[in-house]
Amino acid sequence: ATPTSIMVGTGRAAELGVLFRKGDALQMLSQARVVAFDKTGTLTEGRPELASSTMAGGFDDAEVLRLVASAERGSAHPIARALERAAPAAPEPDSVETLPGAGLRAVVEGREVLVGNARLMAEAGIDDSPLADALGTAAARGQTPVLVAVDGRLAAALAVADRVKPDARRAVAALREAGVQVAMITGDTRATARAIADDLGIDHVEAEVRPEGKVDAIRHLRDRFGDVAFAGDGINDAPALAEAEVGLAIGTGTDVAIESADVVLSSGAVAGAVNALALSRAVMRNIR
Ligand code: ADP
Ligand code: MG
Repeated sequence: ATPTSIMVGTGRAAELGVLFRKGDALQMLSQARVVAFDKTGTLTEGRPELASSTMAGGFDDAEVLRLVASAERGSAHPIARALERAAPAAPEPDSVETLPGAGLRAVVEGREVLVGNARLMAEAGIDDSPLADALGTAAARGQTPVLVAVDGRLAAALAVADRVKPDARRAVAALREAGVQVAMITGDTRATARAIADDLGIDHVEAEVRPEGKVDAIRHLRDRFGDVAFAGDGINDAPALAEAEVGLAIGTGTDVAIESADVVLSSGAVAGAVNALALSRAVMRNIR
């Protein structure tokens, strides 16, 4: 690698909002066989909204949403912001235990409130089948199903919707055209992830991945396809960014993600990954 061509490459990169932080990132990226994206906040806006709520028998909409909003006050998860907005005047919870990759357990006005995914309910011994229709409909729409139990009884199925970024579909098509595999890694429900992947034209989906499992997902993709570039934005993406041959952090993402990355995409858009890949290949072609 001649210094001059790398300088030209990185100068052009800066114009495109791509910052190569590590010396070998250009070369590593040019060799990537698969580009994997985190879903929430990377492929999607990461600003989910409550789209619908379905109550189980005997539960009142406003009351359940108030308990949920209260429980979510202490959580940093994007879903929490959506659920908090559903009942702005919710009380301070008595206590909250966050369960990463699953949801949370809180006590609100003396009532035990469980909010989260199907695995959380299964582990608590709560049967969610009475709300299976609502859950299935939400997932088929690409919405995240959130289950609620109050005092050990199934109370509601909520559907949380997060828009895909406007340039995501085009970026995925461009990556496929460039000859790389495109994958998505998410903690979300398989059916939800599949619906979004289908919408975006993504073939490979690693879903229901626990926070500590993103590294394994990267290894799995590497075994199947070869060198992996992974793009993510969250605190829980940091180990996967470090594990991938090339970690690409979204510039609007968390500091932890940015520090773990080889490349920072300051445009914040998925198109940044396309630009970075094209640029890395152009530079490596020039200097060979
Ligand atoms: P992701 O980053 O893909 O959303 P997470 O590991 O953070 O994955 O969460 C996995 C799943 O756990 C979410 O899709 C959601 O169903 C559930 N979950 C996590 N945190 C919360 C929360 N604060 N409130 C409700 N559900 C949650
Ligand atoms: Mg994310």
